Amino acid sequence: MKIQEADFKKIISHCKEYGYIFQSSEVYDGLSAVYDYGPYGSELKNNVKSLWWQAMVKMHENIVGIDSAIFMHPLIWKASGHVDAFNDPMIDNKDSKKRYRADVLIEDYLANKIDKKIDKEIDKAAKRFGDAFDREQFMMTNPRVVGYMEKRSAIMQRFTQSMADNDMEGLKTIIEELEIACPVSGSKEWTDVRQFNLMFSTKMGAVAEGADTIYLRPETAQGIFVNFLNVQNTTRQKIPFGIAQIGKAFRNEIVARQFIFRMREFEQMEMQFFVRPGTEMDWYEHWKAARMKWHQALFPETSVRFHDHDNLAHYANAAADIEFKFPFGFKELEGIHSRTDFDLKSHQELSGKKLQYFDPEINESYVPYVVETSIGVDRMCLAVIANSLMEEEVPDAKGGTATRTVMKMHPALSPVKVAILPLLKNKEVLTTKARAIFDDLKFAFNCQYDEKDAIGKRYRRQDAIGTPFCVTIDFDTIEDDTVTLRDRDSMEQIRVPIAELEPRIAKKLDLRNLLA
Ligand code: ATP
Repeated sequence: MKIQEADFKKIISHCKEYGYIFQSSEVYDGLSAVYDYGPYGSELKNNVKSLWWQAMVKMHENIVGIDSAIFMHPLIWKASGHVDAFNDPMIDNKDSKKRYRADVLIEDYLANKIDKKIDKEIDKAAKRFGDAFDREQFMMTNPRVVGYMEKRSAIMQRFTQSMADNDMEGLKTIIEELEIACPVSGSKEWTDVRQFNLMFSTKMGAVAEGADTIYLRPETAQGIFVNFLNVQNTTRQKIPFGIAQIGKAFRNEIVARQFIFRMREFEQMEMQFFVRPGTEMDWYEHWKAARMKWHQALFPETSVRFHDHDNLAHYANAAADIEFKFPFGFKELEGIHSRTDFDLKSHQELSGKKLQYFDPEINESYVPYVVETSIGVDRMCLAVIANSLMEEEVPDAKGGTATRTVMKMHPALSPVKVAILPLLKNKEVLTTKARAIFDDLKFAFNCQYDEKDAIGKRYRRQDAIGTPFCVTIDFDTIEDDTVTLRDRDSMEQIRVPIAELEPRIAKKLDLRNLLA
C-alpha cells in the first residue's frame, strides 16, 4: 500500500529517520518552512536536477543552460512587476495572533462549507437512485444544490473582483459576512487585510547608509530574461530557442505548512523558450504536452493532471499547472506559462537597452514572446518520495509475514544505486572481496558498502532508502566469482558473475528507459 494514502506524517518522519530531509536549524528548534537535505535527500535532489537538465538541455539542440546570480539589480524586480504586484493579502486573528492569507481563508470556506455540502447531497442521492442516477441533472434541479451553487458563484464573483481590484476592504467584508472563524481559536476578531510583499530584501554594500535595497530573487526566470541577448549573441541560437537554469528562489510565504511543498527558500528548474510573436500558443501546447510526458514517465497516469488557470497573472496570456496528487490532494507541481513579451519589453523600457532579435527568415526585428516551464525541485522530490514510499506485507524467514517499508522510486533517481554486502562481517576473505567489488563499481555508480547486522536487516535498510540493487558476497563468490544480485521491487535474487554486474545495473539505470 502506498503510504501517501494513509498518513502524510509518516512520509515526513521517514524522511527524517532515513536521512532524506531535516528541519533547518533543528538544534535551535527549527526555522519555519526552511529545510535541509540529508545524505540521501541531497543525492535524490541532484538526481532530479540532472534528469531535468538531461531532458531539457542535453536533449534539445536549441536549449542552453545558464547559472545566473541570486542578487540582481533592484530595478529588475521593478520591471518584472514583483515590487508592485508580488503580494498576497494577509490577515491576522486578534485573539489567536495567527496569520492567514485572506484569499486562502475564503477559498477554504468555499471548499469546506459549500463544496463539501454539495458533494454530500450528491453522494446521498447517488446511493438512493443507484444506477439510474444522473449527476448533472440532479445538480441542475435539486433545490438545495442549486441554492449552494448560487451562493458559491455569488461569493466567487465578489472574491475574484476584489482580488483583481486589490480591494483589501472588500476581502475583509467577505470574511466578515461569511462569518469565517480562525481555525485555531474559533474567533471572528480579524485585523484589516493588508497586502504583503513576498520578496525578501537585504542591503548591499558594507555601509548601510545610502546602500540600495536588493532582493533575494523570488524566481530564477528574470536572470534568464536579462541575459537573453548575452546568450543569443554568444551561442548564435536562432529563434525558437530556450534558456534553462536551476537555482534557489526565496519567497516570504505568509503561511508555510506542508513540509517541503511550500518553503521560504526553495529551488526551481525553469526554462524560458523564446519564440516568434504569434507562434506562442503552438509552443505553449507543445511544452504542456512535453512536460506532461516527462511526469508520466515517472508517475502513474492517475497521479498527474492539468489545471488550466482562470485568473491569469499580469504577464501571461495562457497558463496551466501540472498538478500532482500529493498526500493532501492535487496541487501544483509545475507551471507552464505563455508570458508574452511582457518581461523582455519591460526590461527594454526600464533599462533603455534594446532586447530584440533580428529574424533573418522574415527580415524583421522584434521582442520575442516567451513560453515558460517552471517546476520546483523540492516539490518534485516530495512527489517522488510520496509516490515511492510503501509498506508491503512480505514473507518472513519463519514462513509467516512481515511488513517491509520500501521506496520504490525509479532507479535513476535512487540516492544509492548498489549496496555491496559481504555475507559475514568477520570473514576477511569475504570483506576483502566485497571491498574490491565496491572499489570497482564506485566509478560507475553511487555504491554503499555495509557489513553491519544480519543480511535480512541490511536488505530492509536498503529498501527503506530506495536502493534498487543489493550485491551479496558469500563463500561461493570466492570459488567462482559470482554474487547474489537482489532486486528491490521483486525481492528476486539471482546469481550473476561479478563481471556482469556493471552492464546489468547500467542497463536498468539507462536514461533512455525514461526519456527516449
Ligand atoms: P503556489 O500557487 O503553490 O504558491 P506559484 O503559482 O506561486 O505556486 P510559480 O510562481 O508558478 O508558483 O512557481 C513555479 C514552481 O515553483 C511551482 O510550480 C512550484 O513547484 C515551485 N514553488 C513555488 N513556490 C514554492 C514554495 N514556496 N516552495 C516550494 N516550491 C515552490
